[in-house]
Amino acid sequence: MPHQNKEIAAALQYASSKGWRIVEGGFHAWGQMYCPYNDKDCRCGEFCRASIWSTPKNPQNHAKQIRRIVDNCIMQKNTDNNEV
Ligand SMILES: [Zn+2]
Repeated sequence: MPHQNKEIAAALQYASSKGWRIVEGGFHAWGQMYCPYNDKDCRCGEFCRASIWSTPKNPQNHAKQIRRIVDNCIMQKNTDNNEV
């Protein structure tokens, strides 16, 4: 089921296009997202896993934050650099 907020749904689409795993459900949250390198050797730490809120006060901000988390993954950055 896609996220009810379209900005957040779009951000999740972006995350999943980068290989992030989106898991619905959980306590007080819509779901979680996991870095694709989470089980490899990614050291981006806090950026490797994030909670997705179902009804944040500011959905645009939360959507932006999700994209920033995806872009801040160290392994993701390395991959992007290699592609250039
Ligand atoms: Zn990562």
